[in-house]
Amino acid sequence: MSQSSAIVVLLGGRLAVDFANAPSYPGAPYHDLSWEEFVAFLEASRIVSAERGTQLLTLSESDPKAAFAVLSRAVRLRDALRKAFGALVRNERVSRECSEPINEVLRITEGHDELVQEDGRWKLEFIAREGGLDWLLAAVARSAAEILVEGAEARIRRCANPGCELFFCDKSRTHRRRWCSMAICGNRQKVASFARRRG
Ligand SMILES: [Zn+2]
Repeated sequence: MSQSSAIVVLLGGRLAVDFANAPSYPGAPYHDLSWEEFVAFLEASRIVSAERGTQLLTLSESDPKAAFAVLSRAVRLRDALRKAFGALVRNERVSRECSEPINEVLRITEGHDELVQEDGRWKLEFIAREGGLDWLLAAVARSAAEILVEGAEARIRRCANPGCELFFCDKSRTHRRRWCSMAICGNRQKVASFARRRG
């Protein structure tokens, strides 16, 4: 894994949730997605291999138009996911317009899965029928579609730290997970309330 992908945090519990959070980390507000951060996410979530990631990184110089096109689609998808998950967190209906960027990717990414071996282990890899780069978003769009179909059952939550904008999927047995990261946001909150009590 390259150095840039090491800072990508995957704690959402599902691919589309992680993508909605990208490129943020616990306790920080989310910001725009750069090409480098997008590639780092693809690597960290194993959508592409480290080798492919390195190739993709050079694309912003070798074919900036293609890189820009897929990055714009990625940002549109991510923003729609944040909106949709925000609605799920508030128990509101997810608007139809949130589904458009998801459907857009589902529509253009026809292909099939294939077994490939990586580091001696088998994994399923998506093989796109068309060349292009939009297939990079196919797995994210599928994961997002599944979450929207599940609705409230997907248990999408938002971190209880007001300074943090990360979503996660509550898979805890008691369904009471409050923090994206206990070690970072949970702990910060504990320290703050301890200081308040002492102050
Ligand atoms: Zn957090």
